[in-house]
Amino acid sequence: MKASPLVNFSRLCVHTITTKGWELEEAIDRYAEAGVCGITVWRQWLEGRNQAVAGARIRSAGLEVVSLCRGGFYPALKEKSRVEAIEDNQRAIEDAAALGAPLVVLVCGAVPGQSLVESRKQITDGIAATLPLAESLGIKLAIEPLHPMYADDRSAINTLASANDVCDELDHPLVGIAYDVYHLWWDPELEVQTRRTAEGNRIFAYHVCDWMTPTTDLLNDRGLMGEGCIDLRGIRGMVEASGFDGMIEVEVFSNRWWEKPRQEFLQSIKQSYLNYT
Ligand code: ZN
Repeated sequence: MKASPLVNFSRLCVHTITTKGWELEEAIDRYAEAGVCGITVWRQWLEGRNQAVAGARIRSAGLEVVSLCRGGFYPALKEKSRVEAIEDNQRAIEDAAALGAPLVVLVCGAVPGQSLVESRKQITDGIAATLPLAESLGIKLAIEPLHPMYADDRSAINTLASANDVCDELDHPLVGIAYDVYHLWWDPELEVQTRRTAEGNRIFAYHVCDWMTPTTDLLNDRGLMGEGCIDLRGIRGMVEASGFDGMIEVEVFSNRWWEKPRQEFLQSIKQSYLNYT
């Protein structure tokens, strides 16, 4: 499918991990020629690269840098490890500024054997510790709640309510939420908690994919939009009613799709974006 003037991809953003196998330069070129308008860069794609040069290349291809993915992983049993996590998040904020990304997505972390309550406290403290640098560089920090199946070691923030609570506690215009339908679609409180984000316009990023039935691998068996059971149009309606009007970011980890030619996958992403998001 070629981009025609009749279809609008101005809000379509793709995460570099979605097209895993393409290095940053190839992803930029392929996205640009496909008419994709935004790119969220995962940190691994910057390894060995100058962030400013990478950012300039993205912009000169006509793409917008939407986010840097990802910081976080604040909780740890030892204080030394918590300090190292804060330092790593400071590097992520500096990288985002050099790249020209307005925000860093936070997968907040958790530690098996430590209470989720304590992990959430360490997350809140960790984000607070990086706020002075984020302020000085003007970088937003987006807490991404993760599905409860990840509560053991990836995130102690598992609901939109919990992310809203941390935002309330920190009460800072640079702290908001990365809203990923994969992690949030099941929540009976989703509507009321999405309304709660409206104050302060705190949805900073919106990630889409779909939930497969059966899911064979919680990490790498996400569906393309329309392949699964998530009410994507309904959720988008709620998110936009709360004030979000930013990029719609396609973040699909899928061994099934990664086995196919990437150009074919990118065309399917465009079709799925038009038909289902
Ligand atoms: Zn996400």
